[in-house]
Order: sequence, then structure tokens, then C-alpha cells
Amino acid sequence: IIGMGTMGPGMASRLSRGGHQVRVYDVVPSAIKRAKSIQPVVDAALDGLDIIDQGGMVTYCTELEEAIVGTSLVIENIPESTKIKADLYLKLDEFIDSNVIVATNTSGIPISKLQKYITNPERFIGMHWSNPPHIIPMIEVIAGSKTDPVTVTKIQDLIRSLNLLPVTLKKDVPGFVENRVLYALLRECVDLVEKDVIEPEDIDTCVSWGIGYKLAVIGPMRLLDMAGLDIYHSVASFLNSDLCARTDISPMINKVAEKGKLGMKSGGGLFEYSPEELSSLPKERGAKLVAVRKALEGKT
Ligand code: NAD
Repeated sequence: IIGMGTMGPGMASRLSRGGHQVRVYDVVPSAIKRAKSIQPVVDAALDGLDIIDQGGMVTYCTELEEAIVGTSLVIENIPESTKIKADLYLKLDEFIDSNVIVATNTSGIPISKLQKYITNPERFIGMHWSNPPHIIPMIEVIAGSKTDPVTVTKIQDLIRSLNLLPVTLKKDVPGFVENRVLYALLRECVDLVEKDVIEPEDIDTCVSWGIGYKLAVIGPMRLLDMAGLDIYHSVASFLNSDLCARTDISPMINKVAEKGKLGMKSGGGLFEYSPEELSSLPKERGAKLVAVRKALEGKT
């Protein structure tokens, strides 16, 4: 795994629990230090999910070469920039065979676009994990226009072998599916707060304890069947045209971000976080996600 920022440590641990020998690398040494320091939190969540350790190991490497020579799969997990990713792909050929699968964890850059920067593009694929990656079982699989179907099958099989859920897209659309749905929701939520329809705290309660809680049990297509397509027709006929359709970024978000308030990473964003909260929230949220997942799987 190349890139050990937010997503890398959880992905590495999940793969190693599944019995894989995982080598990880990051260009910034402090990222490796941080990855090692959060290992106990990740392990606690995996223990909580009863994911048995099948004898894999995570090895922290200080050079790209050390991490990828001889591997059968490279997972690129570096920042969401075509240029940064393309620069890395150009370096890979020096160290790996042309048939080694290269999977990107891009959140939504089309795979066909990234594929232009790699030799043997048939071995290139999108493998989009959801954050926190050691807890969320769904992983999107996205083929680009040049991806070999065999590459798709191999990645699907790998995901299934970990007892995780591959969801394979039929088309390579920007943002894939998870982020298109999430960003549609976020656009509407931000707009409602911006128009002073609701307080930020209250919209979180509304979504988490209303549709969010429900959607974990009943997906949107089945929710339509449950509500009735006639009801959807009546409501959508007046509501769809009133929903937020802005194509730029909301001024409310820009205003907060311009002050350097980027969220938890800078101590505050739309909400403020005390140092105690910053350290306890990831653990608390992880524990709750584990409990909900076990309940949904009928394990409690
Ligand atoms: P991040 O910025 O937290 O971490 C990226 C890491 O890559 C950093 O530690 C950085 O030092 C390292 N890096 C940069 N260039 C490198 C290089 N050339 N070689 C080795 N290491 C390098 O990013 P993240 O949030 O972990 O996201 C990684 C990828 O996963 C992105 O494409 C992102 O869109 C995607 N993703 C993120 C999330 C999320 O919730 N954060 C969820 C799903 C997918």
C-alpha cells in the first residue's frame, strides 16, 4: 500500500488480518509514525468485529522499492490529485512486473483518466474503500475502459476472500456511486443550513436518527418500494425542482475554510472540538460503528 495517511493504516490492517503480507510505504516518515501509533485503535475495532487474525503482517518500509518489489498487488492510496498519482504510476515500472495489478483508492477520479498514465492499463483498476476502511465492509470496484475483466475478477475475489462486499460499477462515472450519493446529500444539507432552515446540530440529528439509521437496514431502492412509488411520484413532482442544484461550492463552506478552519484536522470547522474530543471521538465512533455492524449482521 502506497500512502499511509487517513485511509492506509486501516486498509493495511484489514488485509493483514485476512492473512496477507502487507508492505506499506509513505513518502513522509511522520505518516508511518502516526500509522504505527493508531494501530492499537484499529486492532481494537477489528477484534470487536471478531475478525480472526489469519497470520498476515504489516511491514513498514522506508523506500518505495522495498515496499513493492515482488508484490502481486499495489494499492495506490496517495492524495486525490491526477498529477501526484500519475507521477507515482510512472515510477512503478522500475520495480514491478507489467502484469502486477495496480489498484487505486481514488475517491472519484475516473479510472479511464488515471489509466492513461500507467503502462499495461489492463492491470489497472479502482478499488474504492470507505472510511474507516477497517470497519466499513463495502468496497467499490471500478473498471476503466482498458481494464481487463480478469483484473476485475481478481479484485472482486480478493474482497470476497476477506469477507467484505465488492460492489462493481457498470460504468466509470466521476465520484463513482458512493460519493455521488454522499455529495448529493451533503449539497442539500449544506444548502438547508445556509438558507437558515435548520441548525447544523439539528440536521445531524435529523439525518442520523431519521434516514441514516433507516438506510443501514433498507437500501434506497427498497425504501422506494416500502414508501410506495405513488407517494414518491406525488412528492417528487413538486420537490425535485425545489432541491438544491448548485454547481459551485457553497459560500458557507468557503467562508469557514478560508479562515483555515478545515474540520477536526485543524481543531474546528462547522463545529469546534476540544483536544479531549479530538482524541476520544475516533475511538467512540469506531466502537459505535462496530456495534451497529454487529447488530446488522445479527451478531448481538
Ligand atoms: P491523506 O492525504 O490522508 O494521505 C495520503 C498520504 O500519501 C500522505 O501520508 C502522504 O504523505 C502520502 N503520499 C503523498 N504522495 C506520495 C507518494 N508519491 N508516495 C508515497 N506516499 C505519498 O489521504 P487519504 O485520505 O488517506 O486518501 C488517499 C486516497 O484515498 C485519495 O485518493 C482519497 O481520495 C481516497 N479516499 C479517501 C477517503 C477518506 O475518507 N479520506 C475515503 C476513500 C478514499
